[in-house]
Amino acid sequence: MSHLSLYRRFRPDTFEKIVRQEHVVRILKNQIKSDAVGHAYLFTGPRGTGKTSVARIFARAACCEHPVDGSPCGTCPSCLAIAAGSLDVTEIDAASNNGVGEMRDLREKVQYPPVTGKYKVYIIDEVHMLTDAAFNALLKTLEEPPAHALFILATTEPQKIPATILSRCMRLDFKLLPEKDLEAHLRGILRELHKEYDDEAVAAIARAGAGSDRDMLSIAEACIVYSDKLTYAAVCEVLGAADFRETARLAKFMLSGKGGEVLTAAEGILKEGKAVGVLLKDLIELLSRVTVCLLCGDAEKLLSLSRDLYDTVSALASSTSRETVLRATEILVRLENELRFSSSPRISFEAAILRIASPADDLDVSALRTRLDALERELADLKERGMSPIPTSPKAPETAEMAAPKQEIPPKSPEKAPEAPSEGDFPDEEPVFAEAYFSDGPVGAPVPGQESKAAPNREVKQEPKEEPRPAPKAEPKAEPTAEEPKTEPSKGARSAPHMNAEQAYGIFMRNVRKTLRNGVLFTMCSDLSAFYEGTTLVLETESPNVCMALNRADNRKLMESVFLQIGIEDFTVRQRGAAPKVDPVEVLKQNFQDYPIEIK
Ligand SMILES: [Zn+2]
Repeated sequence: MSHLSLYRRFRPDTFEKIVRQEHVVRILKNQIKSDAVGHAYLFTGPRGTGKTSVARIFARAACCEHPVDGSPCGTCPSCLAIAAGSLDVTEIDAASNNGVGEMRDLREKVQYPPVTGKYKVYIIDEVHMLTDAAFNALLKTLEEPPAHALFILATTEPQKIPATILSRCMRLDFKLLPEKDLEAHLRGILRELHKEYDDEAVAAIARAGAGSDRDMLSIAEACIVYSDKLTYAAVCEVLGAADFRETARLAKFMLSGKGGEVLTAAEGILKEGKAVGVLLKDLIELLSRVTVCLLCGDAEKLLSLSRDLYDTVSALASSTSRETVLRATEILVRLENELRFSSSPRISFEAAILRIASPADDLDVSALRTRLDALERELADLKERGMSPIPTSPKAPETAEMAAPKQEIPPKSPEKAPEAPSEGDFPDEEPVFAEAYFSDGPVGAPVPGQESKAAPNREVKQEPKEEPRPAPKAEPKAEPTAEEPKTEPSKGARSAPHMNAEQAYGIFMRNVRKTLRNGVLFTMCSDLSAFYEGTTLVLETESPNVCMALNRADNRKLMESVFLQIGIEDFTVRQRGAAPKVDPVEVLKQNFQDYPIEIK
């Protein structure tokens, strides 16, 4: 006996055996009962939901001489003839017979009356695959069909059917099957096969079927062959759940920015023989599940994964953020498009996952958002654990100025410590002032105990330590921190000799974000390198556009206000490589400071 797949072996042959789709079955049965069969039907719906099965039953019922409650009787000459392969019912797979020739052939043959039954039935499966010319030929037939013609078109993609065809058909939509019904169906089949099973295994197979009876049965078939008893473990093996966990591990490294581990994990999976394209698809699907988990309250129900797979997805979701996942998804989806043109897909793939893992090297807005987001999460996490992101020093920043003793206070973080001023009137003020800034935020200085990975890894070109710096003034009041954004800058109270260019830039960036809350400015400023030229803080950019934008009066003013807060009055923005722009008027003003200069 030749092997019959489960799906074909248990294909329903009466309306009663159809799983769900009551709405469709009821309409069709009523039409048979009232002898009001139309001449063209369009069955639409996802694959494996019973379209072809219903079409065959309906064809038999329409031809049957004595239908029983709308179903074929199975005993009349017409039913017997069709069961034996009558010419009255023709099935055409449009996927392989999509040309105009087939449709012309059909048009000719449909004119001959049926041999036994009342109707000559044509079931055209995957009808959306027909060519335009074939559709036109079919349309001619549908426009003036002989009385004995019955067309049943089936498709998974109704949007590809021309409107002229649609309007001539009675459209019936098949729905995905609920898991409960799939489970019940599978249990019935397993009992009939005398196969032992775990309930959990059946549930997992039904879930994997994702609403399609045919898909579920082919998975079930593989599981049945795999082991004597249908156990959950066996089902997991067949479904590749182990694979899923490997992919989840890779995704976890990717989303948490572990570049090295990402490559190792990817290597491990690809070594097993999985194609790059398949792994990419798996990753994208996983990320979309994580997104659902992040956004939807009833994610568990929506995702319909097995318990432990859902736990894996949910753990991933709770360890990351929406921005991170969206950025990763965008990169991977773009890669999916590019991959088909890529001569070295693996390298493209590795570059993409590395890029996801290291948003710090990426300067687009989504990467910046990801980094900001990581910072905020770390802060929140610190707070949750009862740790203040501001190291609790004996002197709180607010009172530090007053309480500052007159001796040198050793800086807290040596590598980021502000240098001692070469000549300071109040050298003891310096570390306190700097402390108030650098202990606070992660942008300028790393919070102790956590890597500044998420903070901008700025490369500062020059660090002219030998530059002479003006002596700081006393009374460093008005320390603008994130908590007190409205503090008036102490205009001109002091310049910033006590911090190097990188630190000044870091604080500047933090204040743009926290005090100014100006995302656009923040983004524009995110790729500058900072160094001192004399007492002028120079900010350089590669981009002529950024340079121009930052030098616009409105932006310039904003930047000025932020720099003033930290006591920097003299700064300039210019394009890297471009000669420093010399404004003759400025030079003039500089040289004749005491005279009012008016430009006419
Ligand atoms: Zn019959």
